Amino acid sequence: MVNEAVRKELIAKYRKVFERDPEVMAYAPGRIEVLGNHTDYNEGFVLSAAINYGTFFAAARNAEKACRLVAGDLMKEVAFDVGAISRSSVDTWQNYVKGTLAGLAEVGGVEHGFDGMFFGNIPLGSGLSSSAALEMSAGLALARLYGMEVDKLTLARIGQKAEHAYAGCKCGLLDQLSSLAGQPGCLVKTDFRTLKYETVALGGDACFLMCNTHAKHALVDGAYNELRASCEQGAGYFASVLRHPVKALRDVSMAEWVLYRGGLEALVADRSAHPIGENERVLRGAGLLASGDLNGFGALMFDSHESSRRLFGNSCEELDVVVDAAKKIPGVMGARLSGGGFGGSVVVLAHPRDVETASVALANAYAARFGKACDVSIISPSAGAYVLE
Ligand code: ADP
Ligand code: MG
Repeated sequence: MVNEAVRKELIAKYRKVFERDPEVMAYAPGRIEVLGNHTDYNEGFVLSAAINYGTFFAAARNAEKACRLVAGDLMKEVAFDVGAISRSSVDTWQNYVKGTLAGLAEVGGVEHGFDGMFFGNIPLGSGLSSSAALEMSAGLALARLYGMEVDKLTLARIGQKAEHAYAGCKCGLLDQLSSLAGQPGCLVKTDFRTLKYETVALGGDACFLMCNTHAKHALVDGAYNELRASCEQGAGYFASVLRHPVKALRDVSMAEWVLYRGGLEALVADRSAHPIGENERVLRGAGLLASGDLNGFGALMFDSHESSRRLFGNSCEELDVVVDAAKKIPGVMGARLSGGGFGGSVVVLAHPRDVETASVALANAYAARFGKACDVSIISPSAGAYVLE
């Protein structure tokens, strides 16, 4: 469903449930991670994009302290008091909105309740960050309703806190920042040391396919923490041998890694090489895009996946099958796992004229090995979140 149809359907549902028009509406898209894997907590760089699927949030003031919140696609309603916000273990979708409201209330100005409803077209839980889209659309709409000025970084942090404290997911800021900062036809390059971001034009000759394998391998959280610990150990070692300050692996170059890796246990050395290489790939990739070299950029995506597979150890057979198939499909320029790894999705860079055939070929290749196709969505980098005027 295109976004305009989603917006119209939300208004129709809102009128039906609340018997009035919303006073404010905001939209926020999902996001894809394009290059820069496990670089965020190593204080490095990520290239991401806001996507052409998103969530609309509509609201109107309520004279009382009461809040009524409706999930428009489930047509389920919950009620709570604006002065007594707490996380819920049922209808857990409400936690993303409640957490965002609690964050706004900390900034100040949340006095009265609201009648709110949200509705979107992002597949839930498939690595496109429907949760950040919900937080950012709710945050923008409610901030406008309460007459608050909230800058993008503050709003992103409010969303992150909602994930940590209300949804129970210890995510970084990538999802929220990408949803807010995206621009049509552009990638967002974020520096996770300074949290400064800029857009990099992708050009009209490229779009993405997101292949969701739905694979989810056990011990994801344990494995994630273990990888993180190896990165910290690597950074500590390089800080002790290099003659310049090293706070995180962001401060180590691949050339230094080659020279000094011998002092590290092999497993930790390999794991450390991944974020170091990813940082360099993001910076080189942004340069290649600036000069219009999409094939060169795509090759870095394939390298990124190889680094996950051989060095970091966060790939799995499902993801490798998609990436290996992508290498053989005409018009595909690059592919790599997207997100934490150990399952989930592969992001594929392709020419727009080839995406339809490429998506069929990828689904078939996956089905040939695993007996059922992976889900493939066509993604174009799109506008970031906004309040509808
Ligand atoms: P992802 O962010 O990758 O889609 P998460 O598990 O972080 O996956 O977030 C998915 C959850 O967000 C859903 O289970 C649901 O609780 C909530 N959610 C997001 N968008 C909607 C929506 N439009 N309707 C209902 N729930 C939603
Ligand atoms: Mg999420």
